[in-house]
Amino acid sequence: MQLSKRASSISPSTTLEITAKAKALRAAGHDVIGLGAGEPDFNTPKHIIEAAYHSLNEGLTKYTPSSGLPELKESIIEKFRNDQNLKYSSNEIIVCSGAKHALYTLFQTYLNEKDEVIIPTPFWVSYPEQVKLAGGIPIYVEGKEENSFKVTPEQIEAAVTEKTKAIVLNSPSNPTGMLYSKDELAAIGQVCLKHNLLIVSDEIYEKLTYDGAKHISIAEVSEELKNQTVIINGVSKSHSMTGWRIGYAAGNAQLIKAMTNHASHSTSNPATVSQYGAIAAYNGPQEPVEMMRQAFEERLNNLYERLIEIEGFTCIKPQGAFYLFPNAKEAASRTGYSSVDEFTKALLEEANVALVPGSGFGAPNNVRLSYATSPEILDEAIVRIARFVRERMK
Ligand code: PMP
Ligand code: GLU
Repeated sequence: MQLSKRASSISPSTTLEITAKAKALRAAGHDVIGLGAGEPDFNTPKHIIEAAYHSLNEGLTKYTPSSGLPELKESIIEKFRNDQNLKYSSNEIIVCSGAKHALYTLFQTYLNEKDEVIIPTPFWVSYPEQVKLAGGIPIYVEGKEENSFKVTPEQIEAAVTEKTKAIVLNSPSNPTGMLYSKDELAAIGQVCLKHNLLIVSDEIYEKLTYDGAKHISIAEVSEELKNQTVIINGVSKSHSMTGWRIGYAAGNAQLIKAMTNHASHSTSNPATVSQYGAIAAYNGPQEPVEMMRQAFEERLNNLYERLIEIEGFTCIKPQGAFYLFPNAKEAASRTGYSSVDEFTKALLEEANVALVPGSGFGAPNNVRLSYATSPEILDEAIVRIARFVRERMK
């Protein structure tokens, strides 16, 4: 079968692939522990489930406007106002089937053939593939480990060409868990304004920050930067609603209108029942969000201390999200593997622990461990990794 060039040029999502592989091995009777999945292990809070159930019983089961239910957009506007002091109107918001779909629709709507998009590494796996699916070209700028995996304004300036149309920022970052400070964002923002780059600010891990660190959006830095930014967010991570598939974009009204036209031909609208769930998520009690955050912080502290004790691993302590992204180059070479990819493969096949190799995130010396799983499972995983390394270390 002759597939389109576009479809042939993209790779499957490494994160979803590893998660599926771990699940399949488990189903086949192997005692595999998966630290691959980037999704909270908590149940969706009960009041959200009840609101969704109620909406179904009320017969609210029809199509909604393509950009989402007006009530949900109002809840999102209110959330922006309360949490970030950002003011948006209804025509500046589109609700999509997950933040992933919001990003996809944005790139489809904004990019022309061969337009360039700056993607700092390490990056979340879907950004480059989505840019390529829209005919664009990802331009990688290395967030160096010695700079906490963050990019500098000088590096961005050096990567800009007359083809550059946008830059993706993701703070807190998947996979590194790093956060940009207000000063860092202001300095990066100057370069974006100078070259008229659309700033795609993926803030899906906004609520998951630790040790007093606070998420700041580049749109909060100045009105000028807000006008240059599209914020991407959603309820998947904050309210443990990954399977509900509700995310959104907030930004320039003309762009949002184009995205709405596009969505009207792809999904029609995000699932109606999920939209009612998301209204309850934002309008209801926020204690569950904080409870989950605290649980993640506790897990992070435990796991981090034990991970850095394993020989050959070094790790910057993350400030947000729910991943550790250690450098495992030394662990790989001293256990006899030519790359961290090979080491990660052996960990899965021989020690039955699934991690995501950093190559999928553009950082081949690292591996990603998700701690969005129970403390007991994390304990067992770290025991297995430590034993594997100890037994093979030369
Ligand atoms: N951005 C980042 C950085 C993510 O890690 C995820 C999680 N897969 C998403 C966007 C998409 O989230 P969702 O589509 O579940 O809203
Ligand atoms: N964000 C999660 C991860 O990075 C979910 C998987 C995905 O959508 O890529 O693992």
